[in-house]
Amino acid sequence: MKFYSTNNKDLRVSFKDAVFNSMPVDKGLYMPEEIPQLSASFIENIEQYSLTEIAYEVASALLKDEIPADDLRALVAEAANFDAPAVPLDENTFVLELFHGPSLAFKDFGARFMSRIMGYYLKDGEQLLDVLVATSGDTGGAVALGFLGVPNTRVTILYPKGKVSPIQEQQLTTLGENIRAIEIDGTFDDCQALVKQAFADEELNKKFRLTSANSINISRLIPQTFYYFNAYAQLKRKGFKEVVFSVPSGNFGNIGAGLLAYKMGLPVHQFIAATNVNDTVPRFLETGVYEAKPSVQTYANAMDVGAPSNWVRIMDLFLQEAALVKEKVSAYRFTDEETLEGIKAIHSKYNYIACPHTAIAYLAVQAYRKDQDYNGAAVFLSTAHACKFPDIFPPELAAKIEIPASVKALEGRAKQADELGVDFEGFKHWLEKN
Ligand SMILES: *Cc1c(COP(=O)(O)O)cnc(C)c1O
Repeated sequence: MKFYSTNNKDLRVSFKDAVFNSMPVDKGLYMPEEIPQLSASFIENIEQYSLTEIAYEVASALLKDEIPADDLRALVAEAANFDAPAVPLDENTFVLELFHGPSLAFKDFGARFMSRIMGYYLKDGEQLLDVLVATSGDTGGAVALGFLGVPNTRVTILYPKGKVSPIQEQQLTTLGENIRAIEIDGTFDDCQALVKQAFADEELNKKFRLTSANSINISRLIPQTFYYFNAYAQLKRKGFKEVVFSVPSGNFGNIGAGLLAYKMGLPVHQFIAATNVNDTVPRFLETGVYEAKPSVQTYANAMDVGAPSNWVRIMDLFLQEAALVKEKVSAYRFTDEETLEGIKAIHSKYNYIACPHTAIAYLAVQAYRKDQDYNGAAVFLSTAHACKFPDIFPPELAAKIEIPASVKALEGRAKQADELGVDFEGFKHWLEKN
């Protein structure tokens, strides 16, 4: 399987090249040159398979001519080594908990797979791979924990000082080994600008083998398809044959993976794109006009994206036809006030505590059921554990959030982070001397 650029289908590269370069030179995004179809018998019998078996089947359909079967099987098993349960809230509504990985967010699926793939391709004796990441919170933790201990790699994370939650900061700054953190006296955009400048800097590129780990990397998209198939398998065991997925969306990588799974043969009744007031996609589906906007800060801050980078992939999957996207994707947006009401409603109705992103996906299910008079199975994706966003909850709810053992283990560990300003020369100097 080769991967082409969404800007130019004649620009085709191997999976390895797509992984190490993240983005084609023409600034498109990589997509598989064809969408492989999973066999009907696999889909019909999917309830008999485990998450890792499903993950291998899906990965193999895309990558079997790129990575030998036994290696791919091992990679997938190591990457998807935690559960993704579809927890029933009532007889036909399920919350798909994607936060049982090391950083307590769904990004662990992508980051772990990417780190294993990169580690796999790095042969002994090759130059150390330097991964640079800018993060507003969740990406950095997933990448740090994903690459922790992966031989021949080193990760440098830039995060905005004072703008990530305490648990997120612990995940970024206490790991040590091959993970380094820098707190930048600025915003997430400043962090991102520094990383971009580093990638463009000739001297740094001569000295270091730099690579990015951001969410546009194709090796992050592929593993995110696994849990859609696995969720379907879980529902099928309960007798459901079709499902609606509601996906809290920012950069649209998560829902993009769901739509790829659908195109590979997963039976899905409808996808719901659930956003906060950064509603570029809901507006597009309403008006047909795609107008990116600067992002606005919300409670669901991992979805504060005004120009969703993965949207081009979704348009590519639907042959650039807005009408075809609209048939399969409904969209809803919610304000911070509504998000908070959603959190309270889920708690009072189901005694369940959802993070703000998850609550938005729940609200979108409710809206969709009402609009479409839909009473079938609905799964909303829980993209992070509530403990990562402690400030959002009313105190009586915050007190009920159970802190997972992995988080407790980081408590009290020394913070290791250097502090830098927003000037590129300072960052460059740091990279050269550390
Ligand atoms: C990254 C993230 C999202 C948004 O996912 P996209 O793939 O960018 O749409 C939603 N929720 C949480 C908790 C996240 O970390």
